[in-house]
Amino acid sequence: MSRRFVVAGNFKMNLLAGEASALAAELRAALEAEPPACEVILAPVFTSIHAVREALQGSPIALAAQNVHFESSGAFTGEVGAGFLADAGCTHVIVGHSERRQLFGERDADVREKAKAALDAGLTPIVCVGETLSEREAGQAEAIVLGQVASSLEGVDPQRVILAYEPVWAIGTGRTASPEDAQEMHAAIRSSLLASIRDKVRILYGGSVKPDNAEALLGQPDVDGALVGGASLKTESFLPIIRAAKH
Ligand code: PEP
Repeated sequence: MSRRFVVAGNFKMNLLAGEASALAAELRAALEAEPPACEVILAPVFTSIHAVREALQGSPIALAAQNVHFESSGAFTGEVGAGFLADAGCTHVIVGHSERRQLFGERDADVREKAKAALDAGLTPIVCVGETLSEREAGQAEAIVLGQVASSLEGVDPQRVILAYEPVWAIGTGRTASPEDAQEMHAAIRSSLLASIRDKVRILYGGSVKPDNAEALLGQPDVDGALVGGASLKTESFLPIIRAAKH
């Protein structure tokens, strides 16, 4: 079963609107000169979405937000509902990123509600899961991650989401899972899904993906792309990762 690769850049809280749109324009030009073999998604800060949208107008590069509120509208000061993201030009949204889980207390139940809200607004959620270092060292990595997948996707059709396995200890740390460890977890996640659909669901790896490790990670049979933080902030580091995603 061939699943189209996805490479998504999570800018986190980096790049002002002018910087983000300049990066988007640069990537666009490079990918127009030599079209990628994968889907490419950029996830800027909320306030840069408009500028990045302008830079990407008419290009196949897709636009994502980094978070969403699960209510659609109303008295939720400071929050942004999924319909607003769709209105702003987003087609995807990252939910359950480990920074949201760790720094802002998001639980699987929140992630699930956010994923549902995104789907209701026509957005594709990129649902993140991953274990901490202490959970891995205690031999609980697989149980934790499979628990997160089951709980975050309860009542959600997995075929309508993109999953991202991001070991927390590898995010922004320069440490990365070995290709074999990544493959083992991706295969476990896939096996946990219903047999009739498991081959259709794309599972991205995230955690210090860089030009020098992308090919090995993306070469694993159950790794269908990458969610990239730090290396997505510059064309010279993001483009080689996009090029390493070969189908
Ligand atoms: C991320 O933000 O999802 C991520 C994987 O970050 P980094 O690539 O910097 O580890």
